[in-house]
Amino acid sequence: MTRRLSIFGSTGSIGLSTIDLIERDRDAYEVVALSGGHNVARLAQQAKSLNAEIAVTAHSENLPALRDALAGTGIEAAAGEAAIEEAARRPADWVMSAIVGAAGLPPGLAALEEGACLALANKESLVTAGPLIMGTAAKHGSRILPVDSEHSAVFQGLVGEDMEAVERIIITASGGAFRDWPIEKLAEATLDQASSHPNWDMGQRITIDSASMFNKALELIETKEFFGVDPSQIEVIVHPQSLIHALVGFKDGGLMAHVGPPDMRHAIGYALNWPERKTLPVERLDLAAVASMEFRAPDERRWPALRLAREVMEAGGMAGAVFNAAKECALDGFIAHQVGFLRMSDVVEQVLTDLSVDRGLMSAAFTLDNVRAADDTARRRAREIIAGD
Ligand code: NAD
Ligand code: MG
Repeated sequence: MTRRLSIFGSTGSIGLSTIDLIERDRDAYEVVALSGGHNVARLAQQAKSLNAEIAVTAHSENLPALRDALAGTGIEAAAGEAAIEEAARRPADWVMSAIVGAAGLPPGLAALEEGACLALANKESLVTAGPLIMGTAAKHGSRILPVDSEHSAVFQGLVGEDMEAVERIIITASGGAFRDWPIEKLAEATLDQASSHPNWDMGQRITIDSASMFNKALELIETKEFFGVDPSQIEVIVHPQSLIHALVGFKDGGLMAHVGPPDMRHAIGYALNWPERKTLPVERLDLAAVASMEFRAPDERRWPALRLAREVMEAGGMAGAVFNAAKECALDGFIAHQVGFLRMSDVVEQVLTDLSVDRGLMSAAFTLDNVRAADDTARRRAREIIAGD
């Protein structure tokens, strides 16, 4: 039987890897919806080659070009946030959430409300609205499968285990582009330098977030929300080779490590084939050639984002949405050469401090509207701080 599936963020790095796997077993799938941003040519080409029902661009100004590119194919074209959400409500068995940023939340929620199995690469969904997304899945009996490599690794380490037996979860961090730089040099780090990752080939935003450790900060919160553990049970360890993705520590002192090459097609394929395991086109590690693996404690002076994530987990409520939105704006500022590399965490910390006094905003109930309001307020404040620099 063919499975119906949709991919949101199909034109990005995770989207391309997902399509790579689907194309190897084309007849097993029926593609419902694909979504992208400004790369209309790629979106249209994907929709045609996968014979999708609908292709949606996030930006309405791109709709005429998308319509032109799909003319005569019978594939529907649509644009805008509401159209993405509508596409996510079309019946599907499996939905990949691979939009980058808070924009990934509404389609993920919609898919869960419709009962789809959600493969979640978009960590921002859990950071901004963990209780909402987990609660929606529970309410509708829908499943979420983590796609972030660390979380897929933990998920795999927990198969057959009782959460009661879990003492700690350790997620690894490569350390990103500046792992070995002297701290004094970080203030001068350029966009090009921050955009190149030592081990993983990913989208530009997550690559820069790896250099600043904002990515690991988001993943700490993602771990807390997805696995429901206490923040004190989650650790980050710097592991420059990126071969161990995470470890689960049990009460009896045993540590289960997940080891594999840095290739997202493993985590994507695990979620695609779950609960089965199928052959995947990833490199088989030659441990003798690997020879050794290193581990280092993360330095919070080098990576203040990790300290901020701990504060956000402690604060709870809308702190995650505020943190993520401020981080997205600071990152936009860095990409636009308006904010220096180290200044990004200062901006985020300032936004968190300024908004923490607004109890109404920070302690609001977890609804999509409240999360959006916290996100909007944090973006406004971040832009003011950046403009005042
Ligand atoms: P990317 O930048 O390569 O692709 C992002 C996709 O989202 C593109 O299709 C783009 O068109 C779309 N998009 C961007 N802004 C949008 C908006 N406002 N509305 C709708 N669509 C929009 O990103 P990526 O590296 O593939 O990452 C996608 C998600 O997966 C992120 O949440 C990231 O943290 C997570 N993730 C990525 C990797 C990786 O290896 N790339 C690993 C783990 C987790
Ligand atoms: Mg990750």
